Amino acid sequence: MNKQQAQQHVNELRELINQYGHEYYVLDNPSVPDSEYDRKMQELLKLEEEFPELITADSPSQRIGGEPLDAFQKVQHNVAMMSLGNAFNENDLRNFARRANEGTDERISFVCELKIDGLAVSLTYENGKFVRGATRGDGTTGEDITSNLRTVRSIPLSIREENTIEVRGEAFMPHKSFLKLNEQREENGDDPFANPRNAAAGSLRQLDPKIAASRNLDIFLYGVGEWQTGTLESHSERLDYLQELGFKTNPEWRRCDTIDDVIDYVKYWEGKRPDLNYEIDGIVVKVDNLDQQEELGFTAKNPRWAIAYKFPAEEVITTLREIELSVGRTGVVTPTAVLEPVRVAGTTVQRASLHNEDLIRERDIRLGDTVVIKKAGDIIPEVLRAVEEKRTGDEKEFFMPEECPACGSELVRLEEEVALRCINPNCPAQLKEGLIHFVSRDAMNIDGLGEKVISQLFREELIHTIADLYRLERDDLLQLERMGEKSTSNLLQAIDASRENSLERLLFGLGIRFVGSKAARTLASHFETMESLQQAAFEDITAINEMGEKMADSIVRYFAEDEVKQLLYELDELGLNMEYKGPKAQDVEEDTAFSGKTVVLTGKMEHFTRSEAKALVEQLGGSVTGSVSKNTDILIAGEDAGSKMDKAEQLGVAVWSEQQLREVLDG
Ligand code: NAD
Repeated sequence: MNKQQAQQHVNELRELINQYGHEYYVLDNPSVPDSEYDRKMQELLKLEEEFPELITADSPSQRIGGEPLDAFQKVQHNVAMMSLGNAFNENDLRNFARRANEGTDERISFVCELKIDGLAVSLTYENGKFVRGATRGDGTTGEDITSNLRTVRSIPLSIREENTIEVRGEAFMPHKSFLKLNEQREENGDDPFANPRNAAAGSLRQLDPKIAASRNLDIFLYGVGEWQTGTLESHSERLDYLQELGFKTNPEWRRCDTIDDVIDYVKYWEGKRPDLNYEIDGIVVKVDNLDQQEELGFTAKNPRWAIAYKFPAEEVITTLREIELSVGRTGVVTPTAVLEPVRVAGTTVQRASLHNEDLIRERDIRLGDTVVIKKAGDIIPEVLRAVEEKRTGDEKEFFMPEECPACGSELVRLEEEVALRCINPNCPAQLKEGLIHFVSRDAMNIDGLGEKVISQLFREELIHTIADLYRLERDDLLQLERMGEKSTSNLLQAIDASRENSLERLLFGLGIRFVGSKAARTLASHFETMESLQQAAFEDITAINEMGEKMADSIVRYFAEDEVKQLLYELDELGLNMEYKGPKAQDVEEDTAFSGKTVVLTGKMEHFTRSEAKALVEQLGGSVTGSVSKNTDILIAGEDAGSKMDKAEQLGVAVWSEQQLREVLDG
């Protein structure tokens, strides 16, 4: 690989790692397993080692954690809260020990501790009182979560130590509390947390301490930050002292005199891990002597005197029963593995996306195969490979069909894409998915029109296009299963009301490629009417600050299609509003607390109606959407806020009170 290729690859890796990091650290909602993140990071580290001139200060290899959320007061860590270097095998551990031995004169002893999978926190005590608790944040600036940490019973509120002391540890959610919480959430129709780590982080990064209090969190302390009584000589003495002061330390730590002892400890816990009642994702190995620690020092991100050994992801074996195909809104045909149900990492897995045909071919996965499943990071199940030794000869190779499973038209592979697509604009599966999107909260927001009703409407051929939705009559709906008088009236009313929606909802609902709800708002506020957007040239669109070429190209192409022209003509005829009703682009104030932020409103407010609050947020450059998702920045909650609050909390979205909104408005 030459330098130019390396640079390009490094850029791609950084972009991906930054995205994963944001989802994990800031939103508490990772989209890929930890092992995938670790793999990308190792790749980046290797390239940066080979081409050191490509290292930049803002590379994720040089940075710790994620940005602290604005909703919390910031806390400066006078002693940085570091991340840890990783070891993935015995060899990495031996290399760590060798480097440590080379860096100091004396023989080295180690302390091994369980690596608790939770959230790193810092606790400060002044005059024996707990005064401040913070997250790690980006290592130098964390979030003040004192009130939440006060609710954790195992954190002492006072200790017998007059000097200021800052201790550090991992807050976590024990398995039992995690399972109970997820059971409750599923009963309430809320999404379960992906794993105990996200549940703990989501609970502690909340503005309302009552929520953290109800979550049965726990903590193990494993270190110190600022410390004015530094008479102890080793990490193991510190652990003993922390315990004496009344802090909860993990009892399983062990002092090891050789790296062989360390490796024995690692192996022992790899086997014993399922017996613990909390989650661990590895073993932390630290040089015990504090003078030696100081001698070894730090890299930009990690101490040189410690390393985290990561356990490999849990793998299990099951049978691949069949491969199902589904056609998405944009026509992509995705194969999904239907598996013999199997328990892995705490849940039962019966389906796993196979993504595309290339992947099935690459991993040589056949129908009826015994396959290895992994659920790394405890999130997304993945079919790793087939177990060839178990083949009986009855397994069948799988081929993607040449025709769309929904409409029978020929599938195509677009340039530079691995996915197969159905490009028939009238494909019923796409239309159905498109309609599900069209009525969704952030688009036309038509209540009472869920996936089941939409499927029935298509099955009964009452609907073929979006426009048909506005032609539905009472009798059409009454003939559907489980549609009574009342739900029919409500649904017709909701459809009717949606005709009045401001332009951006319709634009987003149309499902133009790359046009999300935020872009739709920007377009609507600039062009103001559907007609002027339809007539806009590529340059008119790219002239807008946030609009890139890819998006502009997609918009221009979209409006050039005959079917689209016809559809918009029909929607206009059917009385849909085609104008923007929000504040004009030029009236929106810049650089406010809401600039570029996605805000959701919920609950009853004392001083504003919902639409007043919405208009005010929009005036200050925010966009208001209907439901909380990982793209939401702020949830403003009035009285009796319900499930949106839970969702926000689960995703780590900042929650504001009405009072906070008023303070911002008052400037
Ligand atoms: P880390 O998890 O590799 O190790 C550092 C952390 O270990 C400390 O901050 C502390 O919180 C914790 N810890 C637990 N027990 C400890 C003990 N006894 N002593 C000291 N520390 C202890 O580093 P990191 O920077 O927090 O996170 C990187 C890891 O997070 C990655 O390796 C990856 O697995 C995961 N991650 C995943 C995604 C994703 O998208 N899935 C994204 C970002 C990070």
